[in-house]
Amino acid sequence: MVHFIGAGPGGADLITVRGARLLGEADVIIYAGSLVNPALLDGRKAGCQVHDSAKMTLEEVVGVMEEAERRGETTVRLHTGDPALYGAIREQMDELDRLGIAYDVTPGVSAFSGAAATLCAEYTLPEVSQSVIITRMAGRTPVPEGEQLRKLASHGCTMVLFLSTGLLEEVERELVAGGYPPHTPAAIVYKATWPEEQVYRCTVSTLAQTARENGITKTALITIGNFLGEKYQRSKLYDPAFTHEFREASR
Ligand code: SAH
Repeated sequence: MVHFIGAGPGGADLITVRGARLLGEADVIIYAGSLVNPALLDGRKAGCQVHDSAKMTLEEVVGVMEEAERRGETTVRLHTGDPALYGAIREQMDELDRLGIAYDVTPGVSAFSGAAATLCAEYTLPEVSQSVIITRMAGRTPVPEGEQLRKLASHGCTMVLFLSTGLLEEVERELVAGGYPPHTPAAIVYKATWPEEQVYRCTVSTLAQTARENGITKTALITIGNFLGEKYQRSKLYDPAFTHEFREASR
């Protein structure tokens, strides 16, 4: 059996209770060493085999899983954040299907949730934005034509960019071409929820400069939108004048 597990964004206590239990029971752990906090491995059982997938190919990863299965052992494949986002789990699951190896998935706290917590921010403020676009700037990994950053930017909603910290000149250009005013608030969140986390507040037009000045080249999320601004409306849900299923208006 193979368990795909979301490790959470960094803080070692941000893995789910289920994920931590399965991790502690694993005979073999394959973890994404470039981003997963190694402190998570401290709870492994004695004799557990550990592999860092940063140095491995898909074939090698699946080979380790296959060998473990042959020995009747349990493998945990530990991915950063939530495995469903930029986790490359589909190709592993397809290989396991082909080999007839059973697996399941335990979700994790994605870095985009971690970043909101670090910022003490709400992505979906009433009358500011009710949508969050999670995407990346096209680089060595292409992005489908219909999802070009400038097209997505035309919505003007909250955006969270993964895997784009090295491409911020292009990001600025695309965001402005798509319709965000250059002074739209933005924040670079470096290593959200890790002890060394950092927040750099800036604007759409100063993203590249801010990253350069602070030496940020990776392990950061770019958040964009007026959710980082001052203005918003109160929620209807907690408005004394608003009646809903669970509460009568009190004035
Ligand atoms: N599955 C992961 C994302 C993997 S892609 C998730 O759900 O979070 C790797 C990218 O995620 C990094 O390049 C960076 O852009 C972002 N990232 C991962 N952890 C981060 C963290 N703690 N703080 C900021 N960005 C992070």
